[in-house]
Amino acid sequence: MDKLSYLNESSGAWHTYLKQIDRVAPYLEHLKEYIDTLKRPKRALIVDVPIVMDDGSIRHFEGFRVQHNLSRGPGKGGIRYHPDVDLNEVMALSAWMTIKSAVLNLPFGGAKGGVRVDPSTLSARELERLTRRYTSEIGHIIGPQKDIPAPDVGTNQHVMGWIMDTYSSSQGYTVTGVVTGKPVHLGGSLGRIKATGRGVYICGVEAAKRVGLELKGSKVAIQGYGNVGSEAAFLFYDAQAMVVAVQDHTGTIYNREGIDISKLNEYVQQFGGVCGFENTENIANEEFWDVDADILIPAALEGQITAHRANRIKASIILEGANGPTYPEADDILIERGKTIVPDVICNAGGVTVSYFEWVQDISSFFWSEAEINHKLDDLMVKAMDEVWNTATKNHCTLRTAAYILACERILTARKERGIFPG
Ligand code: GLU
Repeated sequence: MDKLSYLNESSGAWHTYLKQIDRVAPYLEHLKEYIDTLKRPKRALIVDVPIVMDDGSIRHFEGFRVQHNLSRGPGKGGIRYHPDVDLNEVMALSAWMTIKSAVLNLPFGGAKGGVRVDPSTLSARELERLTRRYTSEIGHIIGPQKDIPAPDVGTNQHVMGWIMDTYSSSQGYTVTGVVTGKPVHLGGSLGRIKATGRGVYICGVEAAKRVGLELKGSKVAIQGYGNVGSEAAFLFYDAQAMVVAVQDHTGTIYNREGIDISKLNEYVQQFGGVCGFENTENIANEEFWDVDADILIPAALEGQITAHRANRIKASIILEGANGPTYPEADDILIERGKTIVPDVICNAGGVTVSYFEWVQDISSFFWSEAEINHKLDDLMVKAMDEVWNTATKNHCTLRTAAYILACERILTARKERGIFPG
């Protein structure tokens, strides 16, 4: 297939994604005419986002929304505010959403958006203006039946509320289903904020059971203490695992007897990061990868597990809370070393699964209890883990390739059955 003219495909997260597709291709011989569909996004929009800063000056930010694949339903995926956002990254993240929705069999395609900005440098008013202008720039391609954004790194429920309000203003009526991860008062779902971390934990329980690891007393190391890492940490702590190391933007804390996660959240709220927390020692960030642990949870950004780090990791189970944390070379090394990697496209799918529940609740205007939501989430995640595990066993392949086999089969069958217009 011809390379994309507008992107360097030989590096970055998109390159990692293409390698993952190459690895699944041999298992999809019967659909091979369609596989190139997955190697390019259906639609990619780049927008200029000018805003008036609080001091009266005008600044321009780069914004993106990429709809990777819409064969199985509307686009779905978060919006990231981060200084490293670029087209390459957003394309990869949108593609991983396509795969993720299909692994869980949610009726969505994959999409992702982002603005190249460090949100911590903006005031609340500037952040709101940025969000509203960005929403208005991508407004013609999003919608409850077209493409439904959600939170990601650097965005939260307040940002989703502004997106909902801006989009609704343009339509002339309140459209709650245009975005998920909203505040509960605006049609958000109970359980959504904790859903991704909860999904990581469920995958951990399922993986541990299958490899014969007792969770109680096991050692867990977590990179990232945001929405995903903090909830996963709490659930493992609650199950009497010992969270021995946590890394965030302030540094890495360590206690071989286990960190008191019940108090860590409050500390982070107050001091803005994990460093300095009681009864822990600070270790160098790079030493995090040498920590003696049974379970490792990368829950920050992509491209964290390099070949060099993969050779040092002690954990036997790796739970990918982040999107794309592992380079393909590192994947091979870890598998060679007998590690079990629960890939991002299932491991962090708890978030989009409860986003799906939120969208269904918004459309039907009928809301469920948190217990119902958690129960449905647990059911879907356990079922998907079962399918992925069985597919891996049957095909003698990794869990990542197994997840891709299941997902790509569903996506490409939809492509085939819809046919290529105009035929
Ligand atoms: N940003 C999250 C993810 O990467 C959630 C996406 C969603 O809920 O649509 O899966």
